Amino acid sequence: MFGIHRYTLAKSWAPSAFGLNPRPKNPLLAFTSGGSIAHHYRQISTAVAELEPDEGQGQAEAEAKKKRDPEKDRTEVISVETSMEYLKSDAYKQTYGDTPVWVQYRRNFKGQFAPKKTRKTCIRHGMISTGNPCPICRDEYLVLDYRNAELLKQFISPFNGETLHWDKTGVCRRQQFNLLLAIEKAKDYGTISFDVQFREYNYEDYYPKELLDKLKADQHQHLDSRQQKTES
Ligand SMILES: [Zn+2]
Repeated sequence: MFGIHRYTLAKSWAPSAFGLNPRPKNPLLAFTSGGSIAHHYRQISTAVAELEPDEGQGQAEAEAKKKRDPEKDRTEVISVETSMEYLKSDAYKQTYGDTPVWVQYRRNFKGQFAPKKTRKTCIRHGMISTGNPCPICRDEYLVLDYRNAELLKQFISPFNGETLHWDKTGVCRRQQFNLLLAIEKAKDYGTISFDVQFREYNYEDYYPKELLDKLKADQHQHLDSRQQKTES
């Protein structure tokens, strides 16, 4: 009973029931009906080649190149030597003054609170993909490298020698990773010197209490005996 019902349902819903074409023919059968498959393939491939000539592809590439804004293009590799010269130049001083490169940078965000993290990266496919790139990405002449000590020093806290967090500087997370890597390497190579702060310890804090009391009592006895000697 069920089987028959299902059969009739399927038949009524078939496209042919609505006057439409039934299931299309097997395309492979179409090939075999009038010539070999290879012959048809050749015909199709030549037709496709006529539709998309090589010149069209060249034009498309040229248009894509034209679309690249030179100010946002970051495909050019700038050497560390150039970056180090740039940091000493007048152009750099005019731009940043004596302050670190991240001081003038402000993050753009919607609403009252800044997002918890900085963005993942500012550069995608060799192009700046945001309107407000981070202080490292926005200036292509700032190259993070272990030799570029003057730049790396700007990201090290003068109080405890730690690398500043992106929370403070606004550097994107990819450049922060590069920064940490460069600073570690610079410390290994000795281009950045760093000292552990001198700390004075009160060793009495580490003595057991009984020993400390005994020592103090001994000291008092010693002082008393001395006083007695001087008096006599
Ligand atoms: Zn960035």
